Amino acid sequence: MAGLKILEGKYIATMDLYPQESREFNRVYPFYEHLRQRRFTTTRCKGCDHEAFPPRVICPNCLSEDLEWIDLPTTGRVEVVTEEEVGVPLGFESPLIHALIDLGGKLKLFSRIVHCQVGHLKEGDEVKLYVFPVDPVPIQMGKETVLKDRVYYAFEPVKKGKSENQVN
Ligand SMILES: [Zn+2]
Repeated sequence: MAGLKILEGKYIATMDLYPQESREFNRVYPFYEHLRQRRFTTTRCKGCDHEAFPPRVICPNCLSEDLEWIDLPTTGRVEVVTEEEVGVPLGFESPLIHALIDLGGKLKLFSRIVHCQVGHLKEGDEVKLYVFPVDPVPIQMGKETVLKDRVYYAFEPVKKGKSENQVN
């Protein structure tokens, strides 16, 4: 847990920022399995074609449970940027940057941006999916407690061409 030294290496359930991802506890677990393969996916309803994000187990449009997984673009363009340098929530490092991203006209989502300095990301910039490990969650399996690895996603700026870097 970043931010408090005394909590380094500890698992604090009430401060857990990330979902449990394993098959036993999460019905959209394929989303996280796809992330491990660097795929960004969601569910589409086979009945009415509605594509929801985040992925669902029931179609929010027609309530069907007959859904399939589809791939979303893994690159997009920034529409709006927010940057926090002070007072970021516990568990996050400063700066904390978020952006509204347009994934090729397919979906707009609000996501954290990593590997980016304050003031660098602008409207129209290209960003790409970045998958990173998060603290494993301890799960009781019979009499044993096992640690389940987890991943989560953010987006990162796509490296700019030489001509743009030379200006700086
Ligand atoms: Zn539907």
